[in-house]
Amino acid sequence: MANQLSVGPDVTGTTIVCSDGRISTDGSNGAVELACDDGTIEKGGVNAHTHIYSGLAPLGMPAPEPEPENFLQILERVWWRLDRVLDEESLRASARLYVAEALCAGTTALVDHQESPNFIDGSLDVLADACHELGMRAVLCYGATERNGGLEEARRGLDECGRFLRSGTSDLVRGCIGLHASFTVSDETIRAAADYCGRHDTVLHVHLAEDGADVQDAIRRGYESPLDRIVSLGALVPGSIFAHGVHLTGTQTERVVDQGCWLVQNPRSNEGNRVGYPSELKGHGRVALGTDGYPADMREEERALWRIGGDHGELPNWIQARSAASAMLVSERFGISARPLREGALGDLVVRRDDEVQHVVVNGQVVVRDGVLQTGDIEAIRAEAQTVAERLFTRMRAL
Ligand SMILES: [Zn+2]
Repeated sequence: MANQLSVGPDVTGTTIVCSDGRISTDGSNGAVELACDDGTIEKGGVNAHTHIYSGLAPLGMPAPEPEPENFLQILERVWWRLDRVLDEESLRASARLYVAEALCAGTTALVDHQESPNFIDGSLDVLADACHELGMRAVLCYGATERNGGLEEARRGLDECGRFLRSGTSDLVRGCIGLHASFTVSDETIRAAADYCGRHDTVLHVHLAEDGADVQDAIRRGYESPLDRIVSLGALVPGSIFAHGVHLTGTQTERVVDQGCWLVQNPRSNEGNRVGYPSELKGHGRVALGTDGYPADMREEERALWRIGGDHGELPNWIQARSAASAMLVSERFGISARPLREGALGDLVVRRDDEVQHVVVNGQVVVRDGVLQTGDIEAIRAEAQTVAERLFTRMRAL
């Protein structure tokens, strides 16, 4: 008999059956039951662009000195210092904490972009292990870059994606090919990334036009824009995931969505980094929502989008469309065309009661019940993260 879970009926009378990890219309006879008579069943939250490696950052990461004045300085003094001191132990602790907290916040899938230049080979297995252990759906890649070790570093990043795509994926975790951003790679690496996508029949995940610095760099290299560079080098692979797009023009945005690609808006990150507002993304159905390394509470990110987007002429239905696009993006990477909670969709859902997360189901498995993580001891995960974070931050201060 199929592995079945019956959730409900909820306060609206809805019952959802998951069968072998998918939403099913088959009867629930014999299924394990998850009661929620005073809750509401919703689709699971999806974080369409994040960095699990920054999971320990909220635990007292040292402040940059001197205070950064622009986007590049934020990268150089904060994130590119953190990523260089990551090793297997600290990445594992980051991943377990980030994934556990995300599940408790009702997030059932993460689209991640990994960076750890001194621990590249095997890094995606560490992330996948945490997702399998705790029951999180994920799409993983390593963001290949040349910013520390040139072409050899980029080759190792792409090889890690390829290795993972060949041997690390499962019903719960998929892979794709990652590039950091146009401004930290050569033409040769962009061409190689496109070649890897073709060989592995997958898509690219890359930061695009996040800041004016990315645009200026592409112009200096003889291209009209970072998108023009990606198109010219054959890397506009259909279905690809482009994070940010803050500095895309209207025509460029059309080009990306017409190619069946996705854009991912990250409101809190864009505000924090002072890179601008992605005005040309407004109203497009293929714009998803990400947290770009902030904790994966998608309700919090949606509130930020309401707050910031309202000042930029966003309409309520455009804002609501972001989470729908995020869910479609992840379904596509798992080869599913059904809409969330419909027959054949991924078996991912959340039950909320009084606006609080009550139950979370991923791939038909109960991972949070009555607000408590079922797949791990969250207090032990938090305690371990604090211990490991202190060692990580000591190494960071010494850089
Ligand atoms: Zn990012």
